[in-house]
Amino acid sequence: MKPQIRNMVEVMYPKRFKYFFNNKPILSRRNTVWLCYEVKTKDSSGPPLDANIFRGQVSAKDKSCEDHPEMRFLHWFREWRQLHRDQEYEVTWYVSWSPCARCANSVATFLAEDPKVTLTIFVARLYFFWKPDYQKALRSLCQKRDGPHATMKIMNYDEFQHCWDKFVYRPKKPFKPRKNLPKHYTLLHTMLGELLRHLMDPDTFTLNFNNEPWVSGQHESYLCYKVECLDNGTWVPMDEHRGFLRNQAPNKHGFPKGRHAELCFLDLIPFWKLDGQQYRVTCFTSWSPCFSCAQEMATFISNNKHVTLCIFAARIYDDQGRGQEGLRALHTAGAEIAMMNYSEFKHCWDTFVDRQGRPFQPWDGLDEHSQALSGRLRAILQNQGN
Ligand SMILES: [Zn+2]
Ligand SMILES: [Zn+2]
Repeated sequence: MKPQIRNMVEVMYPKRFKYFFNNKPILSRRNTVWLCYEVKTKDSSGPPLDANIFRGQVSAKDKSCEDHPEMRFLHWFREWRQLHRDQEYEVTWYVSWSPCARCANSVATFLAEDPKVTLTIFVARLYFFWKPDYQKALRSLCQKRDGPHATMKIMNYDEFQHCWDKFVYRPKKPFKPRKNLPKHYTLLHTMLGELLRHLMDPDTFTLNFNNEPWVSGQHESYLCYKVECLDNGTWVPMDEHRGFLRNQAPNKHGFPKGRHAELCFLDLIPFWKLDGQQYRVTCFTSWSPCFSCAQEMATFISNNKHVTLCIFAARIYDDQGRGQEGLRALHTAGAEIAMMNYSEFKHCWDTFVDRQGRPFQPWDGLDEHSQALSGRLRAILQNQGN
């Protein structure tokens, strides 16, 4: 059921939606923030009890958050809640920017005061994602394992479509995503994962990083990454740039070819603003890069001499022999390429996996596979592979 759009506090015209809910990670002149919300009773699958739109103004010089839509929502909800006290509620927000640090803290306080309310926040973009105080506030809003916290996700096609259908006033045409929506989604999703320090599910790791050379069924490709900077001759970890991502499968919504994990990773690096020093970027990949990704990576390191790239792969991906050519090109360009062995698998388990205290358990044949694959990689890089 469509909410009563004519009763909305604000009117979201199609043009406004397209302009403000653009998901390009860096956008200027968007000081107006839109918050569309839905309130439901817990576990209800029916239409929302209430749905509406708040609009607010943000600026980097703000001294208070009075004009921010998150505060307008809280002001309204606290009063509404007085009349609906006993129920448990699920609140969903669709916001054009993620909350500022002060709003994030106020929302965290509100959730702690009212544990019967759960909040899911879908954000089109991340506001000041490079600023440590904004990052810290989002972490404290989202990260508590026990106790009330919000769940934050990046808006993907389905959420944009949902907002178009439920909140946009008289759209004459069906929702049509921008060409780069999936690419920007993937970037923002990885940035949010970095910022909230998401960890990989243990089964996902074990399934995808198994190094049996002829493993079947692993069509996905995972890439874990970390960055270090050179300081007085020592490599110092930059923990703020650590995370993992996955290839994006082809889908019908403007992403017909999908995007390999390595390319998603190359999209991300410029946002780190690595300059002025020497950096070492290390990737642990479930499959070695395909020919075209290897070429893109080779181009990247040729154009960024201050970045050293090290790639550890669990298995060798050989797309009809061209994978070997790609690996040689990447090696020639200066990348260090090696197969993962016990110590890299353990390092990944300890660093990227939600292991909840469990130590790494090597699988049968890990060392044998690793040695055999290392021999094969050596031959490939010396152009003796077959
Ligand atoms: Zn705010
Ligand atoms: Zn590829």
